[in-house]
Amino acid sequence: MGEFDLIDTYFRRPAKRAALGIGDDCALIPMQFGSTSSVAGELPAAQFWATTTDMLVEGRHFFAGADPYRLGWKCLAVNLSDLAAIGAEPHHFSLAFALPEADPAWLKPFSQGLFALADAHDIELIGGDTTAGPRTICITATGLVPPALALKRSAAKAGDDIWISDEIGGAALQLFTRWGRTQFSAAIPAAQIEHFLVRMEQPQPRVALGIALRGIAHAAIDISDGLSGDLGHILKASKCGAEVRLAQIPAHPYLRGLLATPERNLAVECLLSGGDDYELIFTAPPSARGQIEKILAGLGLAGACIGKIVAGDQLKIFDEDGKRLIAPKSFDHFAP
Ligand code: ADP
Ligand code: MG
Repeated sequence: MGEFDLIDTYFRRPAKRAALGIGDDCALIPMQFGSTSSVAGELPAAQFWATTTDMLVEGRHFFAGADPYRLGWKCLAVNLSDLAAIGAEPHHFSLAFALPEADPAWLKPFSQGLFALADAHDIELIGGDTTAGPRTICITATGLVPPALALKRSAAKAGDDIWISDEIGGAALQLFTRWGRTQFSAAIPAAQIEHFLVRMEQPQPRVALGIALRGIAHAAIDISDGLSGDLGHILKASKCGAEVRLAQIPAHPYLRGLLATPERNLAVECLLSGGDDYELIFTAPPSARGQIEKILAGLGLAGACIGKIVAGDQLKIFDEDGKRLIAPKSFDHFAP
């Protein structure tokens, strides 16, 4: 039983209170407004609370001995990335963790990394839980989004362009190097190795992009498990298919260069099924192309259109010569 079958079989129930329950990057809960508006007659616009939980486990999501500053940052970043994927503005979060020991030399930089990102997005820590145990960190983050503007996985339409917010595959390349599946070429500058390390250890949640795409994009998701699997979630929820071109996927020149070497299969795997990128996949009508290019450039993002949403239910990926490629499977904690 895979991760998503497990959730569907044992935990998915019809939502009574949520406007959007299990199955998207965030749940959406209507916010109630009382009669205490600060200015009489000026009620704030209706909002949904958007809420998401992500847990990181040592040995599974990060290496033992991982840099604690970057880990603190990443624990919050993966949650902010889910808020970004639904177009929500960060509001507050709670922090629960198990730690093997109360070590100030770890706790200080961990908290500094966490709050550096929290302050950058003006999100407030409101509570949590602390226990001894194997190192595990779980954050629940909540944001706000106007109901009609949430970017749901189910909103893609045939004819939409498919976009990626910036280069992908770098986090997986770093991971595969750590696993000994490949080695960086001896000629690669140290700054590029550091670039891939940061892609894996300290991702940038695309919050400003998610908010800028409100009312422009149709569907969105963040890439946590890999392009093919995460785009697959949009296709399943939106009941449509997609055609994607490998050559159009934004990638670092070093990773793109690997496509022309004996390491091609590994590079394809990084691009199509490598997880941990936390870039956004989003779909939008072709009429929005100019607007989207402007938004991406304004945010300094090297995003690109990688293909199209089509009728049907298949994800077809084409290589540089227009031949079909079978994407290796994206990450699943309980893959059969
Ligand atoms: P994401 O990668 O965006 O964090 P996941 O793929 O982890 O989302 O989860 C898919 C959906 O299943 C989400 O809506 C998530 O909230 C929900 N989910 C995951 N685990 C559980 C669980 N144990 N109980 C209820 N819902 C869950
Ligand atoms: Mg997500």
